[in-house]
Amino acid sequence: MALYTTEDRDRALLEAYFRKEGLTGEVLETAIHKAEKEMAEGKPLAYIMEEAAFYDLLFFVNENVLIPRPDTERLVELAIQKIPRGGRFIDLGTGSGCIALTVLKHRPDLTAVAVDLSPDALRVAKVNAILLDLTDRVRFVEGDMKSLWFEDGVFDTVISNPPYIPCGDIPKYPTLSFEPRMALDGGEDGMDFYRAILSHYAHTLKKGGAFLFEIGFDQREAITALAKERSMDCKVTKDYGGNDRVALIEQMTE
Ligand code: GLN
Repeated sequence: MALYTTEDRDRALLEAYFRKEGLTGEVLETAIHKAEKEMAEGKPLAYIMEEAAFYDLLFFVNENVLIPRPDTERLVELAIQKIPRGGRFIDLGTGSGCIALTVLKHRPDLTAVAVDLSPDALRVAKVNAILLDLTDRVRFVEGDMKSLWFEDGVFDTVISNPPYIPCGDIPKYPTLSFEPRMALDGGEDGMDFYRAILSHYAHTLKKGGAFLFEIGFDQREAITALAKERSMDCKVTKDYGGNDRVALIEQMTE
Protein backbone atom coordinates (compact mmCIF):
# COMPACT_ATOMS: atom_id res chain seq x y z
CA MET A 1 0.00 0.00 0.00
CA ALA A 2 1.26 3.48 -0.86
CA LEU A 3 2.23 5.55 2.15
CA TYR A 4 0.19 8.44 0.80
CA THR A 5 -1.84 9.12 -2.32
CA THR A 6 -1.11 11.45 -5.24
CA GLU A 7 -3.77 13.80 -3.83
CA ASP A 8 -1.93 13.91 -0.48
CA ARG A 9 1.33 14.61 -2.28
CA ASP A 10 -0.19 17.37 -4.44
CA ARG A 11 -1.80 18.93 -1.38
CA ALA A 12 1.52 18.90 0.49
CA LEU A 13 3.29 20.50 -2.50
CA LEU A 14 0.57 23.14 -2.90
CA GLU A 15 0.66 23.94 0.79
CA ALA A 16 4.44 24.31 0.78
CA TYR A 17 4.23 26.50 -2.33
CA PHE A 18 1.51 28.81 -0.98
CA ARG A 19 3.26 29.08 2.40
CA LYS A 20 6.42 30.14 0.61
CA GLU A 21 4.29 32.80 -1.09
CA GLY A 22 3.41 34.05 2.40
CA LEU A 23 -0.17 32.73 2.67
CA THR A 24 -1.46 31.52 6.05
CA GLY A 25 -4.70 30.59 7.81
CA GLU A 26 -7.94 30.92 5.92
CA VAL A 27 -6.34 32.56 2.89
CA LEU A 28 -4.03 29.57 2.59
CA GLU A 29 -6.92 27.11 2.86
CA THR A 30 -8.90 28.99 0.19
CA ALA A 31 -5.91 29.04 -2.18
CA ILE A 32 -5.31 25.31 -1.73
CA HIS A 33 -9.01 24.57 -2.26
CA LYS A 34 -9.11 26.65 -5.47
CA ALA A 35 -5.96 24.98 -6.80
CA GLU A 36 -7.29 21.48 -6.01
CA LYS A 37 -10.46 22.32 -7.93
CA GLU A 38 -8.45 23.51 -10.94
CA MET A 39 -6.38 20.34 -10.82
CA ALA A 40 -9.50 18.20 -10.69
CA GLU A 41 -10.43 19.90 -13.99
CA GLY A 42 -7.06 18.88 -15.42
CA LYS A 43 -4.85 21.94 -14.84
CA PRO A 44 -1.28 20.71 -14.36
CA LEU A 45 0.34 21.35 -10.97
CA ALA A 46 3.32 22.93 -12.77
CA TYR A 47 1.10 25.78 -14.03
CA ILE A 48 -0.27 26.44 -10.55
CA MET A 49 3.18 26.40 -8.93
CA GLU A 50 4.71 28.11 -12.00
CA GLU A 51 7.63 25.74 -11.71
CA ALA A 52 8.78 22.49 -13.32
CA ALA A 53 11.80 20.31 -12.63
CA PHE A 54 13.73 19.27 -15.73
CA TYR A 55 17.01 17.34 -15.86
CA ASP A 56 18.78 18.70 -12.79
CA LEU A 57 17.32 22.22 -12.91
CA LEU A 58 14.14 24.09 -12.01
CA PHE A 59 12.32 26.15 -14.62
CA PHE A 60 9.79 28.93 -14.34
CA VAL A 61 6.74 28.02 -16.47
CA ASN A 62 3.30 29.41 -17.22
CA GLU A 63 0.49 28.62 -19.63
CA ASN A 64 2.37 30.19 -22.54
CA VAL A 65 4.86 27.31 -22.65
CA LEU A 66 4.76 23.54 -22.82
CA ILE A 67 5.63 21.98 -19.47
CA PRO A 68 9.13 20.40 -19.68
CA ARG A 69 8.84 16.62 -19.77
CA PRO A 70 11.17 13.82 -18.69
CA ASP A 71 10.83 12.41 -22.27
CA THR A 72 12.93 15.35 -23.45
CA GLU A 73 15.85 14.69 -21.09
CA ARG A 74 17.40 12.14 -23.45
CA LEU A 75 17.59 14.77 -26.20
CA VAL A 76 19.40 17.10 -23.80
CA GLU A 77 21.77 14.34 -22.77
CA LEU A 78 22.68 13.58 -26.39
CA ALA A 79 23.18 17.29 -27.15
CA ILE A 80 25.50 17.64 -24.15
CA GLN A 81 27.56 14.66 -25.40
CA LYS A 82 27.49 15.48 -29.07
CA ILE A 83 28.04 19.20 -29.69
CA PRO A 84 31.71 19.89 -30.46
CA ARG A 85 33.87 21.89 -28.07
CA GLY A 86 33.33 25.63 -28.37
CA GLY A 87 30.32 25.01 -30.61
CA ARG A 88 27.18 26.96 -31.37
CA PHE A 89 23.66 25.56 -31.65
CA ILE A 90 20.17 26.78 -32.42
CA ASP A 91 17.04 25.64 -30.55
CA LEU A 92 13.90 26.04 -32.67
CA GLY A 93 10.68 26.50 -30.71
CA THR A 94 12.42 27.00 -27.40
CA GLY A 95 9.29 27.49 -25.24
CA SER A 96 10.45 27.70 -21.61
CA GLY A 97 14.04 27.44 -22.85
CA CYS A 98 14.47 24.16 -20.96
CA ILE A 99 16.46 22.42 -23.72
CA ALA A 100 18.82 25.23 -24.72
CA LEU A 101 19.44 26.43 -21.17
CA THR A 102 20.07 22.97 -19.72
CA VAL A 103 22.58 22.22 -22.48
CA LEU A 104 24.32 25.57 -21.88
CA LYS A 105 24.41 25.03 -18.12
CA HIS A 106 26.21 21.70 -18.62
CA ARG A 107 28.50 22.91 -21.40
CA PRO A 108 30.09 26.24 -20.42
CA ASP A 109 32.00 26.23 -23.75
CA LEU A 110 28.87 26.53 -25.92
CA THR A 111 26.73 29.41 -27.19
CA ALA A 112 23.18 29.28 -28.54
CA VAL A 113 20.40 30.99 -30.42
CA ALA A 114 16.89 30.23 -29.12
CA VAL A 115 13.89 30.92 -31.37
CA ASP A 116 10.18 31.11 -30.65
CA LEU A 117 7.19 32.51 -32.49
CA SER A 118 5.44 33.46 -29.27
CA PRO A 119 6.64 36.63 -27.50
CA ASP A 120 4.95 35.35 -24.34
CA ALA A 121 6.96 32.12 -24.47
CA LEU A 122 10.17 34.07 -25.07
CA ARG A 123 9.48 36.15 -21.96
CA VAL A 124 9.39 32.90 -19.97
CA ALA A 125 12.62 31.65 -21.58
CA LYS A 126 14.34 34.96 -20.82
CA VAL A 127 13.32 34.79 -17.14
CA ASN A 128 14.85 31.31 -17.02
CA ALA A 129 18.06 32.51 -18.67
CA ILE A 130 18.32 35.21 -15.99
CA LEU A 131 17.55 32.80 -13.14
CA LEU A 132 20.18 30.36 -14.44
CA ASP A 133 22.71 33.11 -15.11
CA LEU A 134 23.07 32.24 -18.80
CA THR A 135 22.14 35.50 -20.52
CA ASP A 136 25.65 36.07 -21.88
CA ARG A 137 25.65 32.85 -23.94
CA VAL A 138 22.17 32.78 -25.48
CA ARG A 139 20.55 35.09 -28.00
CA PHE A 140 16.75 34.99 -28.17
CA VAL A 141 15.05 35.54 -31.52
CA GLU A 142 11.32 36.09 -31.93
CA GLY A 143 9.93 34.82 -35.22
CA ASP A 144 8.59 32.00 -37.33
CA MET A 145 11.27 29.31 -37.53
CA LYS A 146 10.03 28.48 -41.02
CA SER A 147 10.84 31.93 -42.39
CA LEU A 148 13.75 33.27 -40.32
CA TRP A 149 17.03 33.46 -42.16
CA PHE A 150 20.49 32.56 -40.83
CA GLU A 151 23.85 32.57 -42.61
CA ASP A 152 25.46 29.46 -44.12
CA GLY A 153 27.49 27.19 -41.87
CA VAL A 154 26.97 28.90 -38.54
CA PHE A 155 25.62 26.08 -36.33
CA ASP A 156 27.14 22.79 -35.19
CA THR A 157 23.72 21.47 -34.23
CA VAL A 158 20.13 22.40 -35.03
CA ILE A 159 18.00 21.24 -32.10
CA SER A 160 14.24 21.15 -31.93
CA ASN A 161 11.36 19.69 -29.98
CA PRO A 162 8.82 21.07 -32.44
CA PRO A 163 5.06 20.58 -32.36
CA TYR A 164 4.66 16.99 -33.62
CA ILE A 165 1.21 15.71 -32.72
CA PRO A 166 -0.99 15.13 -35.81
CA CYS A 167 -3.70 17.78 -35.48
CA GLY A 168 -6.49 15.20 -35.70
CA ASP A 169 -5.03 13.35 -32.68
CA ILE A 170 -4.88 16.33 -30.31
CA PRO A 171 -8.46 15.86 -29.01
CA LYS A 172 -7.48 12.29 -28.00
CA TYR A 173 -5.25 13.74 -25.27
CA PRO A 174 -7.50 15.83 -23.00
CA THR A 175 -4.61 16.34 -20.56
CA LEU A 176 -2.91 18.52 -23.18
CA SER A 177 -5.81 20.98 -23.36
CA PHE A 178 -4.20 23.36 -20.84
CA GLU A 179 -0.99 23.61 -22.88
CA PRO A 180 -0.42 25.92 -25.87
CA ARG A 181 -1.80 24.33 -29.02
CA MET A 182 0.91 26.02 -31.08
CA ALA A 183 3.48 23.91 -29.19
CA LEU A 184 1.71 20.66 -30.08
CA ASP A 185 0.10 20.86 -33.53
CA GLY A 186 2.42 19.32 -36.11
CA GLY A 187 -0.04 19.51 -39.00
CA GLU A 188 -1.94 16.68 -40.64
CA ASP A 189 0.70 13.96 -40.18
CA GLY A 190 2.60 15.64 -37.34
CA MET A 191 5.68 16.00 -39.57
CA ASP A 192 5.27 19.59 -40.86
CA PHE A 193 8.01 21.09 -38.72
CA TYR A 194 10.58 18.37 -39.42
CA ARG A 195 10.07 18.82 -43.16
CA ALA A 196 10.39 22.59 -42.86
CA ILE A 197 13.45 22.49 -40.58
CA LEU A 198 15.32 19.93 -42.69
CA SER A 199 14.74 22.04 -45.81
CA HIS A 200 15.24 25.45 -44.30
CA TYR A 201 18.19 24.87 -41.97
CA ALA A 202 20.45 22.40 -43.82
CA HIS A 203 22.53 25.30 -45.17
CA THR A 204 23.04 26.73 -41.67
CA LEU A 205 24.93 23.61 -40.51
CA LYS A 206 28.71 23.59 -40.38
CA LYS A 207 30.44 20.69 -42.14
CA GLY A 208 29.79 17.58 -40.04
CA GLY A 209 26.89 19.28 -38.27
CA ALA A 210 23.70 17.53 -37.23
CA PHE A 211 20.00 17.90 -36.53
CA LEU A 212 18.78 16.65 -33.18
CA PHE A 213 15.00 16.31 -32.88
CA GLU A 214 12.55 15.06 -30.34
CA ILE A 215 9.99 12.90 -32.16
CA GLY A 216 6.69 11.22 -31.31
CA PHE A 217 6.79 7.57 -30.15
CA ASP A 218 5.46 6.41 -33.55
CA GLN A 219 7.45 8.68 -35.88
CA ARG A 220 10.68 6.69 -36.30
CA GLU A 221 9.87 5.47 -39.80
CA ALA A 222 8.53 8.81 -41.00
CA ILE A 223 11.59 10.75 -39.78
CA THR A 224 13.99 8.14 -41.18
CA ALA A 225 12.27 8.45 -44.56
CA LEU A 226 12.50 12.26 -44.51
CA ALA A 227 16.23 12.05 -43.74
CA LYS A 228 16.78 9.50 -46.48
CA GLU A 229 15.02 11.72 -49.06
CA ARG A 230 17.69 14.29 -48.25
CA SER A 231 20.49 11.71 -48.36
CA MET A 232 21.12 12.00 -44.65
CA ASP A 233 21.64 9.33 -41.99
CA CYS A 234 19.09 9.02 -39.19
CA LYS A 235 19.67 7.32 -35.85
CA VAL A 236 16.76 7.04 -33.44
CA THR A 237 17.28 6.69 -29.67
CA LYS A 238 14.66 5.69 -27.11
CA ASP A 239 13.69 7.74 -24.07
CA TYR A 240 13.86 6.26 -20.57
CA GLY A 241 10.25 5.14 -20.90
CA GLY A 242 11.35 2.82 -23.74
CA ASN A 243 9.72 4.82 -26.57
CA ASP A 244 11.48 6.02 -29.72
CA ARG A 245 12.10 9.68 -28.92
CA VAL A 246 15.22 11.31 -30.35
CA ALA A 247 16.36 11.48 -33.97
CA LEU A 248 19.97 12.38 -34.76
CA ILE A 249 20.22 13.29 -38.45
CA GLU A 250 23.65 13.74 -39.99
CA GLN A 251 25.37 14.06 -43.33
CA MET A 252 26.34 10.62 -44.63
CA THR A 253 30.03 9.91 -44.26
CA GLU A 254 31.71 8.23 -47.25
N1 GLN B 1 5.73 15.39 -25.81
C1 GLN B 1 4.48 16.09 -25.95
C2 GLN B 1 3.34 15.15 -25.65
O1 GLN B 1 3.09 14.24 -26.38
C3 GLN B 1 4.35 16.70 -27.31
C4 GLN B 1 5.31 17.78 -27.48
C5 GLN B 1 5.44 18.24 -28.88
O2 GLN B 1 4.54 18.19 -29.73
N2 GLN B 1 6.60 18.68 -29.13
O3 GLN B 1 2.70 15.29 -24.65
